[in-house]
Parts: sequence; structure tokens; C-alpha cells
Amino acid sequence: MFALVAVPVPLGRAFSYAIPEHLRGHVAAGARVLCEFGRRKLLGVVLELSDEPPAGLDPAKVKPLLGLLDDEPALPAELLRFLRELAEYYLAPIGEVLRLALPSVERSQVESAQDRELFDQAGVATVGAMQQVAVARGDVADPETERKLRGQAKELLTALREGGPQAITTLTERFTNARSAVKRLEQLGLALIERRAREADRFFSEAVERDVPKRLNEHQQAAVEALEDALATGASKSFLLEGVTGSGKTEVYLQVVEACLKLSGGVIVLVPEIALTPQLVARFRARFGDAIAVLHSGLSDVERSRMWRSLREGRVAIAIGARSALFAPVRDLKLICVDEEHDGSFKQEEGVRYNARDMAMLRAHRAGAVCVLGSATPSLSSEALVRKQRIERLILPQRAIVGAVLPDVEVVNLRNVGAGPSGNRLISLPLHRELERVLSEKRQAILFLNRRGFAPSLICEVCGTVAECPNCSVALTMHRTHGDQLRCHYCDFTSPSALPCTQCKMTRYALEGVGTERVEKALVDAFAGAKIARLDRDVASGLKSEAILDRMRAGEVDILVGTQMVTKGHDLPNVALVGVLNADAALSLPDYQASERTFSLIVQVAGRAGRAGTRGKVLIQTRNPEHPAILHACSHDTRAFVEYELSERREARYPPYYRLLMVRVDCADPGVAERTAQQLAAVARKVVGSAAEVLGPSAAPLARLKNRHRYRCILRSPKREPLYRAAHALGQVKVDARVRIALDVDPVSML
Ligand code: ADP
Ligand code: ZN
Repeated sequence: MFALVAVPVPLGRAFSYAIPEHLRGHVAAGARVLCEFGRRKLLGVVLELSDEPPAGLDPAKVKPLLGLLDDEPALPAELLRFLRELAEYYLAPIGEVLRLALPSVERSQVESAQDRELFDQAGVATVGAMQQVAVARGDVADPETERKLRGQAKELLTALREGGPQAITTLTERFTNARSAVKRLEQLGLALIERRAREADRFFSEAVERDVPKRLNEHQQAAVEALEDALATGASKSFLLEGVTGSGKTEVYLQVVEACLKLSGGVIVLVPEIALTPQLVARFRARFGDAIAVLHSGLSDVERSRMWRSLREGRVAIAIGARSALFAPVRDLKLICVDEEHDGSFKQEEGVRYNARDMAMLRAHRAGAVCVLGSATPSLSSEALVRKQRIERLILPQRAIVGAVLPDVEVVNLRNVGAGPSGNRLISLPLHRELERVLSEKRQAILFLNRRGFAPSLICEVCGTVAECPNCSVALTMHRTHGDQLRCHYCDFTSPSALPCTQCKMTRYALEGVGTERVEKALVDAFAGAKIARLDRDVASGLKSEAILDRMRAGEVDILVGTQMVTKGHDLPNVALVGVLNADAALSLPDYQASERTFSLIVQVAGRAGRAGTRGKVLIQTRNPEHPAILHACSHDTRAFVEYELSERREARYPPYYRLLMVRVDCADPGVAERTAQQLAAVARKVVGSAAEVLGPSAAPLARLKNRHRYRCILRSPKREPLYRAAHALGQVKVDARVRIALDVDPVSML
């Protein structure tokens, strides 16, 4: 008897081991086993069993398995099959793919692997764990004391004030001297240290009142019926639930989930960013109670493992989380909902480059489950599937709450409308007036700008050179919140002061462009007395963003300025104005999806206005008012945009009509990187002949990243087969050991 085992190494294949006498009959596919790999002992997962020895190997020479960890396979058969298929689809090493599915406690600790009790003990020990949290004191504002603050203590206090209470362990990630800085703040009476329940439990920390299913409107009713019918037949089917923001998609999910639970089925709900959607979790708890596994990055390994097991054992039937929740070992999977399916974050851009939206359909298909993709701005990829009749479209055409209407949209052409009284060109005169109106009416406004920092770039005043990161071919961004600081948004580089210009060695720079910090500053200066807050990754990582949104919801903020984070599905009823400060920023990216992303960003952020009964207003500032993505977003005309963009894609030979395979090559040595890229392109050309185009190689738009030079080559064909043929051939090419090659199937990022 032999077992084919996947071990966590970046090699494309699995390895055969002999099953020793005493383990026969116990080892099953999906079980974790201990095996010898080279000189190491590794935990692997059995993919399949066979009676035959591996071809061409002497059976006596096949190494035996060293041990078995599970009587019941860790990975259920359905999930294991899916993972193997995913690995093939993305040309990814099976061992790496399995790591996505097994929480690290389940896969690590080889030394204690024999100790089966380990996991259970670990689970018990951390239940209800507390942690130390630093809280800024709002009651003392003694400017004298604060003036004494220097360095990190000062920065940390600002961070606490802006981002709300934070765990000290989290603060240590951002501040090297977090502990002593917090101590200092405590001594000065500026902050408190409290013991609180771990963040992981934050989704469950407040009681929610149970609610009952709402009476559906006719469109919701039709959608729920279609989904329930599909569930009842037990055959797999995928749907696109297209409904404007606020049309009641979530209520549809809730009712279908309920139907699924009645059939004893398991459910996975995928959302773009779980930290930004605690309301969604709250709505699930209100409907189904606390037997929900919320998978998110704030979980410790042990907590993750605990949730994983409760799903695996069928004690919990609903898993909610970001893309990796797709791998939840839910029992009798009958339903997968992908909320905001158009969102780019479903694509993982490192390691195994999978797209959770596409794979949700695959997993559902193989499991005989129903898959619902929901969005107000469906991706063109889903749109194409509808047209090919591979998935069925369900439409919710209007907002669910009676009287809630879509906002009025007004375009501000930045080419001929100047700055308002603030002098900041992104706060145009019409926007300034609207903000004044909103403030006088005691309503709230959201301003969206997808640029963090104070000024996105610095230009040498002497010779005009842009200051770049020393490690990346990226302009450095000026940040000012914690004193002047230059930062690279792609690597960890930061510098407190301007670097000498690489051309003329001077350090006189002009600040170019406007980031969220600069807007915030301009608003504070222009609207004295208004409460202004900012939401971006600099003030709010992970669950911290919720603190800012809570303040918004509680009416403690009048104007919220932020990045993409403000566009996600928050339900903020008092928001009467949404401003898109620079609609063109996303258009200029070197990326075939730039228009699609611009369109959905604008529509999504506009959807935040006027959610609860009163008419909202949206101002879109642009220098390209005639660009179709902007034009159609302003008139909220999804059909027209889709027609336009599909014909563009067809003409330019891009997805959904063509398939792409991106081959990325990077190396510290630019020459080696370029030569390898050329070598790979030549091999690919030979293999595919006329069945596919090979574009490039060329330097990547992001030509240097963390001191590695990057080249890319794009393979394109209407069919998948030639791309895979090329990929397998590329896998055989011997290249310089310093070179890294990454294959990206259906790439999203073109950088
Ligand atoms: P979406 O997910 O499409 O943005 P939601 O499900 O969040 O929409 O619904 C928007 C608002 O309408 C929510 O406040 C929700 O409670 C409410 N709502 C949804 N369906 C109904 C219904 N059938 N009757 C009354 N209110 C509803
Ligand atoms: Zn950098």
C-alpha cells in the first residue's frame, strides 16, 4: 500500500510513501501524516492511496510514513478534491495550496505531532483570553503636559486618538518602543491601560437583538425563490444577484442561508474585507445566533484552529470571512455567497495567486452547491458568464427601504472649476458649498480619494526630478501626521527627511499632488468647528477602522475623508453628501481593468449617500467628464457601461474574451532578470506557435520593487489550453538560481 502525500514545499508535485503495516486501514485521503523529506520531518496531507508502487520506483526503496495524526481525515474529501483542482488551475504547488486550507496549528509543530492532545489543550487555554489595550483619555487635555511629549509617545497618542483603543501587542507592530511609550502616556495621565476581551471576539462582544426575516419586496421574493428552488434540486447552480446599493441583497442572502440550514446544509459567505463589515456579521448573528465562524486575520492561530474544527465537526454550519474563508471545511456545503463580487481583493496577489470569486463557483460546482455572486456593479467576468448562460442573473432594481432613492449626481469638471475658499484644488467651490450646506443641516459627508499621505510625490525644485524610493521605482509619499516622513507604499522604506536629489544632490522639494492627509488638513482649516475624521490604512488597520465608523455612526464626525475603505458596504444613514475628489486617479493605472475599477468605485461610493429615506447628493470631480467610465457611473447606467467596456475588451483582446497568463520574472541583477525573461518568452513562443500571443518581455510598470528588477511577459489566447501548455514548458526551463518566476493565471494586477 502506498500513499501520495503533499508536503508543504514549493514543488509542483506530491510524493509517494509506503504505508507501514500498523497504519494500514487507518490512513485515508485528507489525513495528516508525518513523513521524512530529505533530512527534515514534515507534516503532509495524503492525497490518495494506491496499491501500486509509484512508476519506476523499487517498492522496497519507497520511504515509509512515520506517523498518522488523524483518524478522521483533517480535510474532508470534497475540500481535498477542490484544492487539488485549484492547484492545477493556478499552476500552484499542491503543498502550498494545502497550506491555505489548514490553519497553522493544524499543520505545524512537527515535534509535538505525536502528542494528539496538544490541539485540544491549546484550545481550552485561550478561551476568553484577555489582552492589554491602550486607551487615550479624552477628559484631560492639558496642553502643558502634552507639550512635553516627544517621539513615539507623541505619535502613539495621536494614533490612539485617531484610531481608537488599540491592543498593545498590535501597537508594537507599528511602534518599536510601544510598551514604554504607553507607560509614559499612562504616567502623564494621557492614556489608560485596560484589560479587554481579545479583538478576535469583537465581532461577538456586543449582544445583538434577534430579528426575524423581513417581508420581501417582489424582486427579493423572486430572487429568493429562484435560489431556494436551486437549493431544493440539489444540483449545483450559480447566480449573479445584481442589485443597486441598498436594494436588499443581504436580506436575500439571509433568507437563502436560512433555507439552506433547514436542509442541514453548510454555508460560506465571502466578503471583501471582514474588518470593514462587522455590520454584516451582526446581521447574521441577529438572524442565526452566535453559532457562526467569523474567520479574519485578527485571529490567533489557536482561535483559527478552534473555529476550523467546529466547522469540520459540523458544530457550526456558517463560515463568514474574506477570501481565505473559501477554504473553510464546512460540512455538507450547500451554499456559497460572494458579497461585492466585483471587488479586487478576492484575488490573492502573492503565494498562490487565486481568485476566490472564480473559485467559489468551482467549489460550489463540484460540491453540488448553489453559488450567489452579489454586487451593485457586477464584474465584467460575471457579466460574460451571464451572457454565456453559465450563470443566471437575478435583479433587484430599486432600494429596499420604501422612499430611499438613489442620489442625485453632479459632475464637477476640474478643468474649468477652480478651488474653493480653502485654496485646495480638490475642494472645489461647488464641493465647498455643498459641505457648508451639509454642515448647516447637521448631516454628514464622505469624501473619497484613493491616495494616502499628505503629498503623493516630491519634485526637486532645482532640476525637476521626482524623489523615488531607493529600493523601488516608486515615488515617495510625504506623510505629515506624525511629523514629516517620507514613505514608500510598496516596501518598508521610511525617512524622516528629504533625501538628496539623485540628479543634483539638492534637497529642495516641492510637494506634488494631494493625499487624504492634505485634504483633512485643508478641511480642518476651512471648516472651523466641524468634526473631521480620516479613514485610511495609516490611521486604521484591520478592526480599528470600525472605531472610526462607530464615531461616524454616533454622529461624532461631520466629514469623513478616506480611501477605498470608505467605499465598502457601510450603512451610514445620516450621510447626505458623497464627494469623489479625483475620479481620474484610478483611470490612469496601466491596467486593462482601469475603467471597470473606476466605474465600480464611483458607483459604490455614490451608493453611500442617502441610504435612509432622504435624498443624497454625489459630487464627482474629474478632468475627464466625457470618459465613458465616469459618464456612465454618473448616470448610474450599468448597462451602458457594460456594453461600452465589453466592446473595448473584445477589440483590445482582453478578458472576458481572451485568457491571460502573466509570467513575472524578478532578480536583484537587472541583466539576469531581463535575459531570463527573454529566454522564457522564446520558449513560450515556440511551444504555443500561433495558438497564443506572447507579449513582451518588457520591464514591468513597477520596474523595481524591494531592490529586485522585474520583467513580465503576457501570454494571451482565447483558449486556456495553449497557455497551460506553455506554462508546463516554462516549468522545465533551467534558470539562474537567483531568479524568481511567478505564474499568474487570470492576472488582475498588471503591475
Ligand atoms: P444591500 O445588501 O443590497 O446593500 P441591504 O440588505 O443592506 O442592501 O438592505 C438595505 C436596507 O434595506 C437595510 O437597512 C435593510 O434592513 C433594509 N431592507 C432590506 N430588505 C428589506 C425589506 N424587504 N423590507 C424592509 N427593509 C428592507
Ligand atoms: Zn520602496
